[in-house]
Amino acid sequence: MPEKQLKVTLIAHTPDPEKTCALAARTCYSALDTDGLQQLVQDKDQTAFLKRILGSGHTSVLEHASFTFSVEGVSRALLAQVTRHRIASFSVQSQRYVSLADGFGYIIPPRIKALGDEAVREFERQMDQMQQWYVAWQEKLGSGEGSNEDARFVLPNACETHITLTMNCRELLHFFSLRCCNRAQWEIREMARQMLAQCKRVAPAIFESAGPGCVSGPCPEGAKSCGRAAEMRELFLNL
Ligand SMILES: Cc1cc2nc3c(=O)[nH]c(=O)nc-3n(C[C@H](O)[C@H](O)[C@H](O)COP(=O)(O)OP(=O)(O)OC[C@H]3O[C@@H](n4cnc5c(N)ncnc54)[C@H](O)[C@@H]3O)c2cc1C
Repeated sequence: MPEKQLKVTLIAHTPDPEKTCALAARTCYSALDTDGLQQLVQDKDQTAFLKRILGSGHTSVLEHASFTFSVEGVSRALLAQVTRHRIASFSVQSQRYVSLADGFGYIIPPRIKALGDEAVREFERQMDQMQQWYVAWQEKLGSGEGSNEDARFVLPNACETHITLTMNCRELLHFFSLRCCNRAQWEIREMARQMLAQCKRVAPAIFESAGPGCVSGPCPEGAKSCGRAAEMRELFLNL
């Protein structure tokens, strides 16, 4: 099975996420009924209002809009990190139901690739070795789910997985603040960057200043700062 590449696809989102969040916010301050609020957000651009509301820290209204992504070509190492985010929903390819007897995809870390072709071949040989161990255990354990379930214990963190995940916009902003930061691990950082680029196209006002903390204020990392705040600000504001 060849090396797998990261692929992030926005498969669904709340229709008109910015209007939905603006309507939710206006519910707090308006005597209008539902029809009236819907008419208002249809007739009048809500960008300035939404930015003012978010600027004041009233971010709970962002919980009314959600984005769903399909993420392929990521490692089980990434899976362990992304699923630490509790205000999110996940569906993950099962290593119990899906047999990897025909080979498993894997992710090669860029730092290993940078060592050159021989290092990559060594990594690939190691993956092949684990594949052989996996098949050997499947054969010993016999057919059925139990076989996959236990044989997978010899598979590596590099093993590719496929995730569907959903987050609301408030959680997305939080997720981007942590995972777009240079302190985050390279793989989840790239996944978060791609997610943010797609969110920005759909809801530019909500995600205008999204990204690591340094995009909208001073770097929150203190002594551990990467020292590249200006560069990061430029990158994320123009994503
Ligand atoms: C650079 C980096 C390094 C890390 N290193 C490690 C590590 O070495 N070891 C390790 O174990 N983890 C590590 N983590 C994971 C980290 O500790 C968090 O578990 C993860 O980032 C999820 O963040 P969260 O809890 O803020 O967010 P989410 O789970 O996405 O929650 C969002 C927010 O909701 C609120 N919330 C959610 N659940 C609760 C709750 N039960 N009670 C109160 N408020 C809640 C909090 O305000 C929280 O910030 C690391 C993360 C990063 C970004």
